[in-house]
Amino acid sequence: EVVPINIIKTGENEKKYIGRVILLRNITPFKELDFAKTNFIATISHELKTPISAIKMGVQLLENQKFGELNEQQKELLKSINEDGQRLLDITGELLNLSQVETGNIRLNIEPCSPKEMVQAAIKNVEKLAEQKNISMITQYEIEDGDAVAADFDKTVWVMNNFLSNAIKHSFQDETILIRVERKESTVSFSITDTGKGIDEKYHRQIFDRYFQVPGEHQNGTGLGLAISKNFIEKQHGEIGVKSSLNQGSTFYFMLPVK
Ligand code: ADP
Repeated sequence: EVVPINIIKTGENEKKYIGRVILLRNITPFKELDFAKTNFIATISHELKTPISAIKMGVQLLENQKFGELNEQQKELLKSINEDGQRLLDITGELLNLSQVETGNIRLNIEPCSPKEMVQAAIKNVEKLAEQKNISMITQYEIEDGDAVAADFDKTVWVMNNFLSNAIKHSFQDETILIRVERKESTVSFSITDTGKGIDEKYHRQIFDRYFQVPGEHQNGTGLGLAISKNFIEKQHGEIGVKSSLNQGSTFYFMLPVK
C-alpha cells in the first residue's frame, strides 16, 4: 500500500508533497484462510450433490404417477421442486468446479480436438434454452479442414456453454447469436457475439472475478461461470477476454493453441 504524505507547513497555506510511506503487509494468514475456505466449499458442494440428486429422483418417481394420480396443483408443485433442485445441482456443480481448479485438484485431459465438434456439442446443450426466446445461433468457421486445438474437450465445451447461456440470458427475444471460429497464427479463436444490452467498460476487469455480477441486475446466477471459464482456459495455456459496451452487445472470446 502506498500512502502519499502531504503537509501544510506552519504559516503557509499550500499543501506540499513531501514523500510517501510504503506499507508491506504479510498476507500469508489471509491466503491460508482463503485456501481453507476453498476446501470447505469443495467438501460442502460435494456432500450436497447426493441428497439433491436423491430429491430430484424422488420427484421424478412421483411425476410418473406410479404411486397414484396427481391433481394439477400437485403437478405444479412437483415442477417447481424439480426446477429448484436442478438449480441447486447447477450451483453446487459450479462451486465444485471452482474449488477444484483453485486447489489444483483438476485433471485436464488435453488432446487434439476439432473446433467444429466442440462448437456443435456446445450448441446442442443450449438449443432448448435458445428456443424459449426464439434466438437463432449462427456459426462461421475460418479454419482449415484438419485444424485442431490442444484442449480438454469437456472443459472447453463447458466454457462455450457458459458463454452461450449468458449470451441467451442477456439477449432480447428473437435475436441472433454469432459463433465465430478463426485461425489466428498459432491459435484458434472462438468468439460468441450477442446483441444484448452489453457491459459497461468499467466492469470488464471484474467480470472474470468470482461471485461478480454487474450491479443493479436481479438475475439468477452465481457470478461464478466466467471465473471458472477463465481458470479452465488459462490452465489450457489459452487466453480469455471480453469486448463490449453498454447497449452495443457483447463478444466473449477465448483462444487456444493449435495442436
Ligand atoms: P452469472 O451468469 O452466474 O451471474 P457469470 O460469471 O457467468 O455469472 O457472469 C458474470 C456477470 O457478467 C453476469 O452476472 C452478468 O452481469 C455479466 N454478463 C455475462 N455475460 C454477459 C452478456 N453476454 N451480456 C451482458 N452481461 C453479461
